[in-house]
This record gives sequence, C-alpha cells and structure tokens, in this order.
Amino acid sequence: KLVSREYREADTIIEINRVQIGGPSLVVMAGPCSVEGREQLLTTAEAVKAAGATILRGGAFKPRTSPYSFQGMGEDGLKLLAEARELTGMPVITEVMDTEQVDLVAEYADILQLGARNMQNFALLKRVGRTRRPVMLKRGLSSTVKDWLLSAEYIMAEGNQAVILCERGIRTFDDHSRGTFDLSVVPVLRELTHLPIIVDPSHATGRWQSILPMARAGIASGADGLMIEVHPNPAEAWSDGEQSLLPERFVELMEQVERIADAM
Ligand code: PEP
Ligand code: MN
Repeated sequence: KLVSREYREADTIIEINRVQIGGPSLVVMAGPCSVEGREQLLTTAEAVKAAGATILRGGAFKPRTSPYSFQGMGEDGLKLLAEARELTGMPVITEVMDTEQVDLVAEYADILQLGARNMQNFALLKRVGRTRRPVMLKRGLSSTVKDWLLSAEYIMAEGNQAVILCERGIRTFDDHSRGTFDLSVVPVLRELTHLPIIVDPSHATGRWQSILPMARAGIASGADGLMIEVHPNPAEAWSDGEQSLLPERFVELMEQVERIADAM
C-alpha cells in the first residue's frame, strides 16, 4: 500500500512555501476554531505567528453537532484566511466538508483539512485526492488505525501523495475530557507509515487546562507537530471557546514545546 513503510521507507516531507511538515523542524498549526471576522482572525494570526507558529488554522465551513450552531462564515471566511496569509506569510489550513466545496476551498487554502466526521466520506477522500493541495486527514471519532490508514490510501490512490495524519482524540468510555487523546498511536503510526503525524490536544481534550501538558506530551511522543486552537477572547468564541488558549498561554506553550523538540 502507498501509505506503508514497505512502499516508502523514508519519512515523507511536505513543503509549502518553505514550511516543511514531517521534516526535522517542529510544525505548529495554530489559530481560532472558527473564523469570526477580520479583526478576530488578523489579531490571532499575528499573535500566533509572533509566538512561533508556522501554519495558520481557522474554520470557514464548520462541522457542528447541532444544525442550530454557527456553521462558519463560508467563502467570506476563506477570503479572510487568504488576507491573513498575505499579512503573516503563514500557509493556511482550513476544513472542507463536501465534494462540492473542494474547488472553492482549494483556491484559498494551502492545506485541505478533512475533519474527523468525514474520515470515511469516501467520495470526499477521492475528490481531494484529485487536487494538488496537501490534505490533513483527522482520525475519525471511533476509527481504528487500520480504518484511518485505509482512508489515507483512498487519497493517495487518486494521485495525491501529500497526506498528513492528525490524531485528535477518540471516543472511549470515560468522559472526564471531550475525548481520549491517543498518543500511544504515534509510535505505531511511525512504524506503519511514512506520512507526517500531527497531534491536536485541543479537540482531543476539549479543555484549555489540558492543552499545555498534552501538547508537551504530544511532541515527546514523537509527533511532527501540533494543531492548537487560540482565541483572543475564549469566553466569547463562537465555537470551541472552552478549549481555546489565550495568546499569552500560547506563547508559553511554544516556549515549552520548542524546548522538548530541541531535546529530541
Ligand atoms: C477542527 O479542527 O476545527 C475540527 C472540527 O476538528 P475535528 O474534525 O477533529 O473535530
Ligand atoms: Mn474547533
């Protein structure tokens, strides 16, 4: 299989405007859960860039559990992400939820994110496999490693080899946190696949108090990088405020994880 170490022994390194994912340097994708407006996005982008983030995240099409929750700004959000890229020079990652949105999102984004809820949307996997954009595939809410890697295979089999895996927590019996952050998957993935591995303590734990320790653990586990939600005013965030870090806490996180990455 194309995902396997047997097929490709060396680690895959994906390069976007001089930012490498899967190489020796730490990758941190940071930004708000949702793009909420110009001021909110641009201030967050500048803050995370100053702290050392390498890629800007922000949702424009949001996969919300309730149909009555904020669904994202859509194309206006994509335009703001492109403006933030101009301003900061950071490549942008954003979610695409539907085959019909792929061309639009690929026009604005540097990396297409496939969310946990779409990990086995096979039509979408095949469709992003036919684009030239790197794809970050988040692990499904209750997917095994086998399921996850076969979903990556769907993208690669269509011709797109630039796939990034993202562990974002899975459903288990306990509810002390939003999900169970399965960091023990990282060394297993390392053996099975050459693809870059990102871990997302924000969606995995759902609590800002857990983000710093679990980000440190994520880098210590051998992941290539992190996805972290940051918001200038988490209490007022339109989505995922409970897990969003204030910019000053994100500065602290970067200092701590950089030290761990340097020591590895
Ligand atoms: C997100 O990153 O905005 C998101 C919705 O994540 P997940 O698909 O992991 O829930
Ligand atoms: Mn979120």
